Amino acid sequence: MSGEVAPRGGSAKPGLRLSILSSGSSGNVAYVEASGRGFLVDAGLSCRRVERLLARIGRGIDDVEAVLVTHGHTDHTSGIRSLVRKCGVQVYAARGVWDAPGVASVEVAEPFEVCGVEATYFEVPHDAPTCGLRLRTEGVSAAFATDLGEVTPQTLGWMSGARALVLEANHDPQWLRRGPYPEELKRRILSGSGHLSNQQAAEAALALAPHGLSEIVLAHLSETNNSPARACGTVARVLREAGYGRVRIRAAMRGRPTPWVEVDPCSGHPDDGCVRGLTDRLFGVGR
Ligand SMILES: [Zn+2]
Ligand SMILES: [Zn+2]
Repeated sequence: MSGEVAPRGGSAKPGLRLSILSSGSSGNVAYVEASGRGFLVDAGLSCRRVERLLARIGRGIDDVEAVLVTHGHTDHTSGIRSLVRKCGVQVYAARGVWDAPGVASVEVAEPFEVCGVEATYFEVPHDAPTCGLRLRTEGVSAAFATDLGEVTPQTLGWMSGARALVLEANHDPQWLRRGPYPEELKRRILSGSGHLSNQQAAEAALALAPHGLSEIVLAHLSETNNSPARACGTVARVLREAGYGRVRIRAAMRGRPTPWVEVDPCSGHPDDGCVRGLTDRLFGVGR
């Protein structure tokens, strides 16, 4: 399913589209595009690897105007220096989250504009100062929360109304508990400032489903303590049992861009006549 190329659409195409280029503890990068202009959310891979991944969705490094950093962990920031050096991209981060030279600090909870998109950082609980992101343009919105230990009511409030959600589903708790990680690391991952489990992601999806959610990309999956089928299956089952089987669920993977996720006024509910194949699911799980 990767390697799907979409025309830029130009200024006539409403809304935004995104692809998670790579996800997980080995490096996180997402590409977001609106009105033909693009930016990254995090850059935890080298410039050269980002360039290769962009090529698989029909884009180049020159399409990247900015990078929005969620937090300072190296799996989200290791490529930023090379991107700035080679491409001169503007880097944004919330104040106190990643204060590096040349980074534009913006206030948490205050909207700022990037590539014609209104972006807002919101705080999430993690073991470093960390933000999620809400992106809004032309009446539609998407939200990112890829490193967080729990979904608080405040986090849900920021994500509510998003048509597309990129949400962490790091581990299956049983797999983690029985797995090979040291006990201290297991405790940290399972804590309220660690990483979200599949079940926690499912509960958040369930809370957001009645508020216009139509696409979920599960992100930051552990290669040791999770699988795409396990993560998608857990979330799909919870949504389906509650009557929200229409929400499309995908898993972001390491080194393999997701198909484009279109976030536009026609990507909403199946009865609006605009939606194709909302019941499609990657891996065919959860049916
Ligand atoms: Zn992190
Ligand atoms: Zn991370």
